[in-house]
Amino acid sequence: MPVLEGACHCGTISVRFETDLTPDSIPVRACACSFCRAHGASTVSDPAGHLTIQIGEPDVAQRYRFGLRTADFLVCGRCGVYVAAVLPDRQGAVAIVNANTFDAGPPRGDPGTPVSYDGETEAERRAPGGVTSGHRSPWSTPARNSNTNKAKGGGPWPPTAQS
Ligand SMILES: [Zn+2]
Repeated sequence: MPVLEGACHCGTISVRFETDLTPDSIPVRACACSFCRAHGASTVSDPAGHLTIQIGEPDVAQRYRFGLRTADFLVCGRCGVYVAAVLPDRQGAVAIVNANTFDAGPPRGDPGTPVSYDGETEAERRAPGGVTSGHRSPWSTPARNSNTNKAKGGGPWPPTAQS
C-alpha cells in the first residue's frame, strides 16, 4: 500500500499514512471548528488505510480534548504542530491526520474542502464506518501507535484503546 510520511516541525511525532487512495483522488478536508481553523489544518483519512503515529518522546506529546471530548488531538509540546487526532473505540482507534505534516505537503497542495461537524452527536461521531446523516465522518482511519521510547514512561497510545 502506498505510504505518505510526515512529522511535526521538530520531528518528535511522526506519522505514516498507508492508503490506496491516490494523491489525485484523496479527499482533503478543512474542518471549520475553531481548533482546526486556528491551526490551519487540512486533514485526510481512509477507512481502508492505516495510520501509524510514532512518538519519539512520550512526555512531549500533548493530548487535547474539546467539544464532545471523544478524541485526543495530538499536538507536539515542543514545536506546537497539530499532527493528528485519534478517537479510541472498541476495536482500537480511528484517526485523522493533518495533511500539512506530510513531507510532500497536502495532496495536490489542496487546502481542503470546508466541512463542519458541529451538529454531530457522540453516537454519530462514533458510528461504525463513519457514515452518518448523509455525510462521512472524518474519523475513519484505523490507527495504531508505535511508541519508540517506552523506557521514558511511554505506553501504548492512545491508552484507552487497550481497555
Ligand atoms: Zn514537534
